[in-house]
Amino acid sequence: MTDLKALYETVKQRNANDAEFLQAVEEVFESLSVIADVHPEKLYEDVLSRLVEPERQIIFRVPWVDDNGKTQVNRGFRIQFNSAIGPYKGGLRFHPSVNVSIIKFLGFEQIFKNALTTLPMGGGKGGSDFDPKGKSDAEVMRFCQSFMTELYRHIGPNTDVPAGDIGVGGREIGYLFGQYKRIQNEFSGVLTGKGLTYGGSLVRTEATGYGLCYFTEAMLKDKGTSFENKTVVISGSGNVAIYACQKAQELGAKVVTLSDSSGFIYDPNGIDLATVKDIKEVRRGRIKEYLEMHPDATYTEGARPWSIPCDIALPCATQNELNLEEAKELVKNGVMAVCEGANMPTTPDAIHYLLENKILYAPGKASNAGGVACSGLEMSQNAEHLSWTFEDVDRKLKDIMVNIFETCRDTAAEYGHPDQYVVGANIASYLKVAEAMKAQGCV
Ligand code: NDP
Repeated sequence: MTDLKALYETVKQRNANDAEFLQAVEEVFESLSVIADVHPEKLYEDVLSRLVEPERQIIFRVPWVDDNGKTQVNRGFRIQFNSAIGPYKGGLRFHPSVNVSIIKFLGFEQIFKNALTTLPMGGGKGGSDFDPKGKSDAEVMRFCQSFMTELYRHIGPNTDVPAGDIGVGGREIGYLFGQYKRIQNEFSGVLTGKGLTYGGSLVRTEATGYGLCYFTEAMLKDKGTSFENKTVVISGSGNVAIYACQKAQELGAKVVTLSDSSGFIYDPNGIDLATVKDIKEVRRGRIKEYLEMHPDATYTEGARPWSIPCDIALPCATQNELNLEEAKELVKNGVMAVCEGANMPTTPDAIHYLLENKILYAPGKASNAGGVACSGLEMSQNAEHLSWTFEDVDRKLKDIMVNIFETCRDTAAEYGHPDQYVVGANIASYLKVAEAMKAQGCV
């Protein structure tokens, strides 16, 4: 215990400006203190001191020319955090808020998430402070080509396989893949989330949102209930939120909110997803445009949806988007489960409050692992030069998510913290990675 505290102090000193990274490390250490209490011999502190330091961090200049002929300069990042159980794997985020701390926290979380999938993938993450919003397709293409012109030398199908994240969808992956292929003269599975015509996997687009609902469904079933007739509040209206909404609706729930960074919509009749897909996937518009088709819905500018009464809350936008005050409001309004589609969306004090109030809480590193799991399946199909059917991939995804839930539940119980899936997720994944690192010596 004392040693864990000392190690955390060292991490803090070394990463003094990286608030999000420290938040992610602290959450993991809190769970690992349970190992120190129950099985101190399994804490492997010599491993842990290496695991908190990325294997490699790359920061690079990304110059590109905008539609007015003016040179723009962004900053690119790739953090290759841990390769103990497989090639580095994790998405690229394009958003103006991107910095070292955010990429480091995402890369650190990815190590544990990927271990939970049971597939052979290490942890990494990357991105840029480039904002695709408001840019033309030609500008996005020139940016992606410039980004890949540096990144290509650091990645490869057996080295590091990036994917999408906030601001990086099918369009961006296509431009990045095209440039990689051109520079390397090689058609390989170096990125996941590819289009179906050039090596992508069926279900990858839907996988994170569907996987979140499969995890939640397993958790609810374990407690004798289901999505049927539940009211669900979702934040975000991007890739994860849209397909979480779709699957929750298919499983019998009524989804009443979605949001973007400008505000949220509330439709008491249930969200009409066709309208949302048209706004977000076709027109790249704002969520408030929903009201043009659905005048009964309301739009609240500059707010998040957690004040709307619900049974299940699915934060699917970004980190630290659900704070203590909002958690209190959810609990007051009768929420039974909070399941994270985004990475680290719930603040630590809000997590503690939910757990103290016996709310079912699914941590993102477990409940949103469906995206990377499906990416792992895309890598397998690329390696075999095969394409599996939608039903095949969906069944594998569901099996993986149910297995992750059971691992979290059973490990939490084994370590004396029943129903604290965050403890189970951190311990089970840590032990897998730590044992692999130990076996490979001090590297
Ligand atoms: P998208 O870019 O498709 O959508 C992001 C959504 O979140 C948009 O509605 C966006 O609104 C909103 N959002 C982004 N930043 C903020 C912010 N600072 N404040 C409020 N709203 C914000 O991203 P994804 O759906 O892919 O990702 C959402 C979350 O899920 C992220 O945390 C990501 O790391 C996580 N995740 C994604 C996976 C994937 O497969 N895509 C896999 C696992 C986790 P706006 O358009 O206004 O910016």
